[in-house]
Amino acid sequence: MHQDKIIYDLISKEEKRQTEGIELIASENYASSQVIGAMGSILTNKYAEGLPGKRYYGGCEVVDEIENIAIDRVKELFGATWANVQPHSGAQANAAVMLACLNPGDKILGFDLSHGGHLTHGSPVNFSGKIYQPFFYGVEKETGLIDWNKVADIARKEKPQMIICGASAYSRDWDYAALKDVADEVGAILLADISHPSGLIARGLLNDPLAHCDIVTTTTHKTLRGPRGGLIMMGEDFENPWGHKTMKGQVKMMSQLLDGGVFPGTQGGPLEHVIAAKAVAFGEALTDDYMQYVLQVKKNASVMADAFVNKGYDLISGGTDNHMMLIDLRSKGLTGKIAEKALGIADITINKNMVPFDDKSPFVTSGMRVGTAAITTRGLVESDMERIVGFIDSALMNHDNADHLEGVKNEINEWMNQYPLFKAE
Ligand SMILES: *Cc1c(COP(=O)(O)O)cnc(C)c1O
Repeated sequence: MHQDKIIYDLISKEEKRQTEGIELIASENYASSQVIGAMGSILTNKYAEGLPGKRYYGGCEVVDEIENIAIDRVKELFGATWANVQPHSGAQANAAVMLACLNPGDKILGFDLSHGGHLTHGSPVNFSGKIYQPFFYGVEKETGLIDWNKVADIARKEKPQMIICGASAYSRDWDYAALKDVADEVGAILLADISHPSGLIARGLLNDPLAHCDIVTTTTHKTLRGPRGGLIMMGEDFENPWGHKTMKGQVKMMSQLLDGGVFPGTQGGPLEHVIAAKAVAFGEALTDDYMQYVLQVKKNASVMADAFVNKGYDLISGGTDNHMMLIDLRSKGLTGKIAEKALGIADITINKNMVPFDDKSPFVTSGMRVGTAAITTRGLVESDMERIVGFIDSALMNHDNADHLEGVKNEINEWMNQYPLFKAE
């Protein structure tokens, strides 16, 4: 029996919450029991600073094998030539890359946080905006799309040392080839942070950043459906020594710099239990089952976007190419804060989100972000998306009617209890 009843009871309570509700937070997913099993294993006991075969601790023979398998599988999955699977999170992966490639005060050019970018791409409250000098590009007001020519214009004007592409709330694909052209022109390193759509990218459903970008980072727990963690990869540029980025005159390979950026640059001991769980997840992502999964994620998102549009909701860019969509609630007279609260009472979990050119604060916001990665893992298909949008619309239109929200919640709990969190094995 578990001795710590307080914590284990709360874990059971959270399991019930995750089972009974509709999970639409675009960055969340449900990891498999095998992934969770590896994460909850005795591997957490092991110190293994360094890399496989080059550790600062004894007794690493077994974890070396595990970490090498994780690296091999992820290279196969993405067609990468090099990978480091140790970053504890997506933010840690980006910190390691920036430490490895930039000097304090260097210029970075990223996607504006308020247009869907991430804190680690230069926000003033994040290390990336404090240590480096940030510049931003955004979307066009009319279309909700990034204009690649405008990004190039800003890059030519500011001459950043690094250009960052990728987002937390952009529902369209990226023109990595165009960005690489301008990065080369201004002498910038091109970093793609594919934290959100990495699962769809791995299985070829979106443009391939590894073919164009110098460095690619991702989380492993979003569409990739692994344990909470981060990852750094390289595609083609691996063999090139990064001549102008040497320290003390040494010519170092980019891969060496990046490994050093992770450890000892920004982390201590790697989480070998999480690395084992990453290996399991990468193995899962190579299967036909996962291919069917990402295809369904994309189909579900597309059908859900159409259902919102049909009910008069205003989607940024009018739709989606990936697993998520960003909805401007102003035309419905609502804020993100009101929507998050009302839907929460009905056991539909979303997050409020700034929309481009938002006139409200980040605590209120004019929008909400929804994604289909988690509900697709539960087993929901196209016809279910229309039902979910029906529930959302009904809850939002009655957001101050507690009895109505309670009724929606009961229907949802009954429905979702039919979909177990873990597939029978
Ligand atoms: C989620 C996300 C991250 C951060 O990941 P954490 O694991 O939460 O640190 C970084 N970049 C982008 C684009 C993300 O969406």
